[in-house]
Amino acid sequence: MTLYHLGIDDTDSLKFGCTTYVAALLIEELIKYSKFIDYPNLIRLNPNIPWKSRGNGAVCLRFHSDMSEKEILDIAMNYVEEYRDHKDEKNQPGIVLLKGEVPKCVRDFGNRGLYEVLTLDEAIMLMERMGIHYRRINNGRGIIGALAAIGNLLDGDYTFELIVYRRRELWDEKRFVDLNSVINFDRENKPYTFNNIDYEEERLLITPHGSDPVLFGVRGESPHIVRMALDYIKFRGGERWVVYRTNQGTDAHLIRKYTINELKPYHAVVIEGRVSKKPTIISGGHVIFSISDGTGEIDVAAYEPTGDLRMIVIRLMPGDRVRIGGGVRLLDNGKITLNLERLEVLNLLKEISVNPICPKCNKSMKSEGKNKGYQCKKCGRKTRERMVIKIKREISEGIYLPPARSMRHLTKPIQRYGLEKNGWNEEVGEFYGILLNT
Ligand SMILES: [Zn+2]
Repeated sequence: MTLYHLGIDDTDSLKFGCTTYVAALLIEELIKYSKFIDYPNLIRLNPNIPWKSRGNGAVCLRFHSDMSEKEILDIAMNYVEEYRDHKDEKNQPGIVLLKGEVPKCVRDFGNRGLYEVLTLDEAIMLMERMGIHYRRINNGRGIIGALAAIGNLLDGDYTFELIVYRRRELWDEKRFVDLNSVINFDRENKPYTFNNIDYEEERLLITPHGSDPVLFGVRGESPHIVRMALDYIKFRGGERWVVYRTNQGTDAHLIRKYTINELKPYHAVVIEGRVSKKPTIISGGHVIFSISDGTGEIDVAAYEPTGDLRMIVIRLMPGDRVRIGGGVRLLDNGKITLNLERLEVLNLLKEISVNPICPKCNKSMKSEGKNKGYQCKKCGRKTRERMVIKIKREISEGIYLPPARSMRHLTKPIQRYGLEKNGWNEEVGEFYGILLNT
């Protein structure tokens, strides 16, 4: 038996299909001739790449098999051809098959795929050099994500997602998933399941909205927890389910610290600095402020969908020390800004120094020039000392995130803090099934 890693990406488009559905069908076929060494992996890559379909997710299947490379690639190609969106030229599926252990250069490539912008040339060069086989359709940009997925072994933190797919004749229909049954599941399994419900708006977060095969997806800390959703949640039209091991909810993309002068468009970055301009609200309800770190200054935007996070941001003051996680956006005027995804208030300014007040006249004293002290214009009293006054802050130090409804797939929700895992070394449980009569 040979160890294989099969990566697939970009079989979906905005309107049709879904890479994970092709994976689900492939699993059903491959499982007849293979032994999986891991749950199917759903790898989310840099969410800031503008030309990617929503979510930027790729799939990797890892298994032992007696099949030849050609047989596996042929099977995968057949499914991709059948289910990809033939009407969309932007649809550029890629399939990559790696034999044996995943070499360090592929792991590095995968790691960079979480926060950088990787190119097709680079992916091809790496695969040619390493003798890795691949197939592509149209331009085959999908091989970038497919190779990056292979390289992400999820050997740090990870979570699970159960995806339930629906029957093909229902792909354009409205989904039926019972809200109360999801609330029930969510409440009873907290904190081991996350981002299921937006309680503020009493809205489901587990159902996508497009015409695609996904009925719903439930996230959680273990395969056992997410599989339980099948017993709790009431739904109609389900066809099959798959449990994926994934980097969702782990902040895997916010791993590289940048200085402001190093920032590049579309990278997912972490920067640390001081607030340098007071936050202001601009039209549309977005809040903008600036931070600087000694190498430069950059505008940070908390857009309207970040909801209450803006209420924290607006209370920041110049001088506050913050750590920002976010995506670098390229504006039409060629400038870059940072799209706020995660705010960590490290140190709040608690006092400021001002010109001293004359104790006699109760008037602000004027500076006599640099290092020359201060004088009261009314009575002539002099002093050298500035005055320090304490300020009352309405926010506290800590980590702040947007509401679940506008979080990135990769963003680690607050409830996951403390539940982080460190590598995976368990038996692969049941991760695939067909649904009857739902
Ligand atoms: Zn005075």
